[in-house]
Amino acid sequence: MTAVETIQAVLEGGGNLLYNYACFRILRTPLVYNIEITGDCPLDCEHCYFHREWNCGKNRDLEDEYWMKVVNENSDKPFVFTGGEPALRMSLVKKAFGVLGRRLILISNGTIKFPLAIETRVFISLDAATEELHDSIRRKPGTFKKILKNIRGDKRVILAPTISMTNYKEIEKLVQLARELGVYGITFSLYTPEKKKHPADPDDQLTLQGKELLETAGMLRKVLRENPDIVFLTEGMIDLFVTKEHVPNCSLKASPEKPGWVRSRNPADMDKYPCVIGGNVDCEKCGCNIPINMADLKDQAWRMLTFRKNDAKNIVRVAKMFTLQKEYISPSDETDPA
Ligand code: SF4
Ligand code: SF4
Repeated sequence: MTAVETIQAVLEGGGNLLYNYACFRILRTPLVYNIEITGDCPLDCEHCYFHREWNCGKNRDLEDEYWMKVVNENSDKPFVFTGGEPALRMSLVKKAFGVLGRRLILISNGTIKFPLAIETRVFISLDAATEELHDSIRRKPGTFKKILKNIRGDKRVILAPTISMTNYKEIEKLVQLARELGVYGITFSLYTPEKKKHPADPDDQLTLQGKELLETAGMLRKVLRENPDIVFLTEGMIDLFVTKEHVPNCSLKASPEKPGWVRSRNPADMDKYPCVIGGNVDCEKCGCNIPINMADLKDQAWRMLTFRKNDAKNIVRVAKMFTLQKEYISPSDETDPA
């Protein structure tokens, strides 16, 4: 990372974040809007939180005009478009990009390629490095090959797998795959379950706990140590995946009385509480990358301000993760397959 890259990343990404954080503290406006723009998705992933609360059904989506009004009214803020699969609403994505530019962030399963003209960060949920395991997790044959074809060489893309009991042994292979594909990098979340309906119910079979959780943390530390250029994690974040110390002060946790940093809305434009994962989420087992990233960021910033030992690189890392760098904007003569 050059000095110019560093300054650029902090100003473009971190600067926005600090400005929006100040607005949140003073005006209680959200730092980020997270919108599930469609209820439709071609996949049926075993770990999907979205389908727990929302049945697929594109015909129930709100019109482009509805969401563009929300975008236009809050156009100084970053928006995350997710779903369902946001690429199913390409006309809305294009219109929102026209207003927000790189303040629009897309979270997609990668089965449909976003046109290269949409020059912004795209997180792709590739959940395994081998075809058989990947397609069994997504419960749709042929998905792995299609995603790889769509994202190869695409520097807008950061892979964002959800790690669970099914795929925790894939971590190293996923990092190798990110490098082979030539995408910008990779980050990880751990699967977050729902609360048990009854204390006597068995534990959720996908949740990493005990020795498997420690093994996962060990593998994350190894890939971070060996691939600091493409792995968007920090040692502090990996600690939090295990200790869950971010939970009591989770920056995303919201209620009608107490807004969180992120305002999450479902396809019917209803607010989601306590966070995007939904009403019955088991916070004590949270493995979501975003609040963990934010907790580590806050810790490092506070350490810097109080002249204690800190990992200042994390501030740059977060800025680069959420903001597409100018050098990766596609050349104008590139063929756009979309
Ligand atoms: S791609 Fe996302 S929305 Fe679709 S089934 Fe998988 S987790 Fe759910
Ligand atoms: S599950 Fe949601 S509200 Fe709970 S700690 Fe995690 S991000 Fe915060």
